[in-house]
Amino acid sequence: MSKYDIIVLGSGPGGYVAAIRASQLGFKTAIIEKESLGGICLNWGCIPTKALLKSAQVFEYLKHAEDYGLKVKDAEHDFDAVVKRSRGVADGMSNGVKFLMKKNKIDVIEGYGTIKTGKKVDVDGTEYSADHIIIATGARSRELPSLPQDGKKVIGYRQAMNLDKQPKKLIVVGSGAIGVEFAYFYNSMGTEVTIVEYLDKIVPVEDNEVSKQLERSFKKSGIKIMTSAEVTSVDTSGKGVKATVKTKKGEEILEADIVLSAVGIKSNIENIGLENVGIAVDRDKILVNDYYQTNIPGYYAIGDVTPGQALAHVASAEAILCVEKIAGQHVEALDYGNIPGCTYCTPEIASVGLTEEQAKAQGLDVKIGKFPFSASGKASAGGNKEGFVKVIFDAKYGEWLGCHMIGAGVTDMIAEAVLGRKLETTGHEVLKAVHPHPTMSEAVMEAVAAAYDEVIHL
Ligand SMILES: Cc1cc2nc3c(=O)[nH]c(=O)nc-3n(C[C@H](O)[C@H](O)[C@H](O)COP(=O)(O)OP(=O)(O)OC[C@H]3O[C@@H](n4cnc5c(N)ncnc54)[C@H](O)[C@@H]3O)c2cc1C
Repeated sequence: MSKYDIIVLGSGPGGYVAAIRASQLGFKTAIIEKESLGGICLNWGCIPTKALLKSAQVFEYLKHAEDYGLKVKDAEHDFDAVVKRSRGVADGMSNGVKFLMKKNKIDVIEGYGTIKTGKKVDVDGTEYSADHIIIATGARSRELPSLPQDGKKVIGYRQAMNLDKQPKKLIVVGSGAIGVEFAYFYNSMGTEVTIVEYLDKIVPVEDNEVSKQLERSFKKSGIKIMTSAEVTSVDTSGKGVKATVKTKKGEEILEADIVLSAVGIKSNIENIGLENVGIAVDRDKILVNDYYQTNIPGYYAIGDVTPGQALAHVASAEAILCVEKIAGQHVEALDYGNIPGCTYCTPEIASVGLTEEQAKAQGLDVKIGKFPFSASGKASAGGNKEGFVKVIFDAKYGEWLGCHMIGAGVTDMIAEAVLGRKLETTGHEVLKAVHPHPTMSEAVMEAVAAAYDEVIHL
């Protein structure tokens, strides 16, 4: 039986990052994967969706070339080629992980892993053992009883990024990041899109003003939005799909070619041997402490299979922390209150920390500043005047409680707020940190200035 210091089960951004950090720290490491290296993120999540969205954004620019003084005759898209490009980008990233495994001398074991007592893992009949086993089996699309997925007319995110024919009409159920990203993509490609959201606003975890701005922008681009609405059943017996939607006003039947169920994820905790070992779970999550140790010594869990935000950067941060703790390093527990969340439709959304509503609900006395991109030189030059940056500070102590952005490129700007909050910066320090001109990032400095009544360009 092959013996390792660390075996990682699953090779997503949790698993493969854990394996690399383990190897860097001198552990003999193996990683087990049943599908493609890189997990959901690289193969069916973050990366292929961003490739699709890029095609949509380029197409939008071409359609609006005249706004830039350019003439493009009859811009057209080739749906197959767009999907093919996305798959190619994903394959390239997965190969990149393969290279990293080799470079770091990590053994890749292909197959289905089941954990066993005695710190062993069975992979399709062959046993491997280790001093430490890290479970990083991730998650899959959640199914609602009212919306059973058949993979053809009622689909999850995997099929949504790999359809062989573009639907004419699409219903997107759920308006979290995944739902709105697909809504934007298909709408840009010319599909008639309707979003059905159970709660009373789209992108429900975001600050109210951000949700409202996205709703305005989506409606302007032709996306239909139904909030406080629920798909109670679907009828797939005919040519397309008929979805019964319950709204405050009563029931409505929507017809479409395809319904995309984007109502969240379900962790992969089944059939991986948790019961054999006695590892504690709560609903569909493996319970862990601050260092990702489960209740059974020698077994750890990270990423989407544990509680906490289901995001790639969270999985990777947990991976590094988990392995460094195994190595005996002094590690600081992850601050789940300072995790940025990004949504890559147009306009993009990026946020970290408390929303205005959350801060007020906590009884905090706040100072709020907002700077619209319509007042930004770079945004005007780029033709991207939609959106704003909003910052929230604690009025008494100056703590940067939250930052919420919507607009072009904001997903690349939010790191400033994450770092500022990590370093416990105050508003005045941000204000006095000179931002380059002309950039979209000036809007952060100006929003902070607005919070302290020092804004220049408003
Ligand atoms: C459409 C979509 C878009 C997304 N976009 C973003 C984004 O822009 N930014 C972001 O931060 N996050 C995004 N996410 C979320 C992100 O993909 C996940 O949070 C991340 O992949 C979780 O990483 P993980 O390592 O926990 O698990 P995963 O990436 O799910 O990887 C788990 C791996 O384990 C393997 N596995 C499972 N069971 C076994 C077994 N028994 N034996 C062997 N192998 C096994 C699986 O095959 C898989 O490869 C997106 C998700 C989706 C679905």
